[in-house]
Amino acid sequence: MDWLGDGFMKCEKHQKPLEGACQWCGKQLCRYCVGKRWGSKLFCIECAQSSVGHIIERKQLEEIRKQEQVESKKRDIRKIFEDY
Ligand SMILES: [Zn+2]
Ligand SMILES: [Zn+2]
Repeated sequence: MDWLGDGFMKCEKHQKPLEGACQWCGKQLCRYCVGKRWGSKLFCIECAQSSVGHIIERKQLEEIRKQEQVESKKRDIRKIFEDY
């Protein structure tokens, strides 16, 4: 018997509420199905372990690198003011 009704989606494997769909294959995921989180995006375990996972990791690295560049730029600006 489905107490939650048709409007509420549950994971078939874990019987937990779904958090969202895999951004790659579109599979519905509960929190136990999530293999990787990238910001607000979710990826299933299968996709996270496949080549997609490496793409995600590379993108994450790019994001981190970008952030570090911004931080170092801020430091440079600060240095200019300190030297002044
Ligand atoms: Zn997937
Ligand atoms: Zn699940």
